[in-house]
Amino acid sequence: MSRKVALVGIGKIARDQHIPSIAADDAWELAATVSRNASVDGVEHFSTIDELLTKRPDIDVVSLSIPPQPRFDYARKALEAGCHVILEKPPGQTLAESYALERMAGQTGVSLFATWHSRYADGVPAAKAFLAKRSIKRFQIIWKEDVRRWHPGQEWIWQPGGLGVFDPGINALSIMTEILPWQVHLTDAVLEFPENRDTPIAADLNFTNPDGAPMNAVFDWRHEGLQTWEIEVETNDGTLKLSAGGAQVAIDGQMVVDGSNHEYANLYRRMTKLIASSQSDFDMAPMIHVCDAYALGKREVVAPFSY
Ligand code: NAP
Repeated sequence: MSRKVALVGIGKIARDQHIPSIAADDAWELAATVSRNASVDGVEHFSTIDELLTKRPDIDVVSLSIPPQPRFDYARKALEAGCHVILEKPPGQTLAESYALERMAGQTGVSLFATWHSRYADGVPAAKAFLAKRSIKRFQIIWKEDVRRWHPGQEWIWQPGGLGVFDPGINALSIMTEILPWQVHLTDAVLEFPENRDTPIAADLNFTNPDGAPMNAVFDWRHEGLQTWEIEVETNDGTLKLSAGGAQVAIDGQMVVDGSNHEYANLYRRMTKLIASSQSDFDMAPMIHVCDAYALGKREVVAPFSY
């Protein structure tokens, strides 16, 4: 029997990924949606989460694909109603509110899944296995994309809590924190804020590591050429390149994984297992690096941005 899920926030990622992934998985049924201005044909629709929780007690999984700013209240209500909850990345606007959700899930005994979809890209397990046995000489993230192409008209990304260029950049950090055999921390950063915006359009981050190797991440939302989501790692025994956001892996120029996009299908499979084993999956490591960059980063004001 399939498990009923309510999807909250019928916007870009809901339509691009959540709805097709749920439809393709026999273990799941899209039983309801909650959205203020949108609905899905043939699926019962509610305008508020309160209405959903009151009228559909048979639904015990809520998947939140709304932006981070309103997410806490939605998640809190779903957890208090005894529902298992799937959080889009990032898990919240702040560390404290995200950890509060983790505590609530623990108290009610439901599964909370703070998803990092990029960790489920096809090349990530091979990259992790490769790095586990090597020492690192250089680690470089290049995450450069055109915000006008990927986030047209999304004002929330420019508002406090919206993360700006860290919205895609945190995907790279989620891969970094998954594939490295040890933990790192930020040593310095430069964040570029458009003079008319509250979140950065570009960031340059440096990290420390036990191997003493240079580790750098460059995120830029002003990139109009070839869209680039790459991590290159030079080791004592070969150079690893993760590209296409983690779907592809090459070692010394030789392609060893040429994957496609199964990230969200994998997320729903993972949630099925979490519920079956009464577990949660809640790792704040990528968000901690972003918060550290906000705390430690030097701020530069750059040209205003408009769509
Ligand atoms: P979006 O399309 O701008 O927003 C999703 C929906 O959330 C909106 O259509 C809106 O639906 C609802 N919403 C917006 N603001 C709200 C508010 N203040 N209160 C309640 N509901 C609100 O955003 P998205 O691109 O799908 O991103 C949503 C989340 O998914 C973000 O955390 C993002 O980082 C993550 N994500 C996005 C992508 C991507 O490619 N876009 C990829 C991976 C992850 P109604 O107006 O109908 O309520």
